[in-house]
Amino acid sequence: MKPITIIDVSQVEIDRLLADPIYNQFIPTGCSRCGQSKDFRRRIFQIFGVRKNKYADEDTQNMLSHYFLRQDNIEHVFFRTNSKNFYADSASCPICHSTAIVFGFSDDFMNVMMAKYNTQIGHLKK
Ligand SMILES: [Zn+2]
Repeated sequence: MKPITIIDVSQVEIDRLLADPIYNQFIPTGCSRCGQSKDFRRRIFQIFGVRKNKYADEDTQNMLSHYFLRQDNIEHVFFRTNSKNFYADSASCPICHSTAIVFGFSDDFMNVMMAKYNTQIGHLKK
């Protein structure tokens, strides 16, 4: 098995990812401790050495989640792929500093999906 390498993504790279409309479809939406819903600090890690067919593997994700908890004290990470790269995305609360943040689809993404859905319904009615 290849060794797994994890790097802390630089702020420049984080800004680039967050400017990507596809990456930004899934964002931190709420602190599970205090309910804060915005202004989260992001920390993103890129993971090397995991085979692509293992990205969604439960054992792999559990192992990596344990690593982030132990190493960086991050309670919740969200595994993402972008441009074939494998990332762990995390956020911390600006109010209570918790890292137990819930991620969800952004409003922009939901609006686009609803617009598509409505268009399809429109087609069906014709
Ligand atoms: Zn909080």
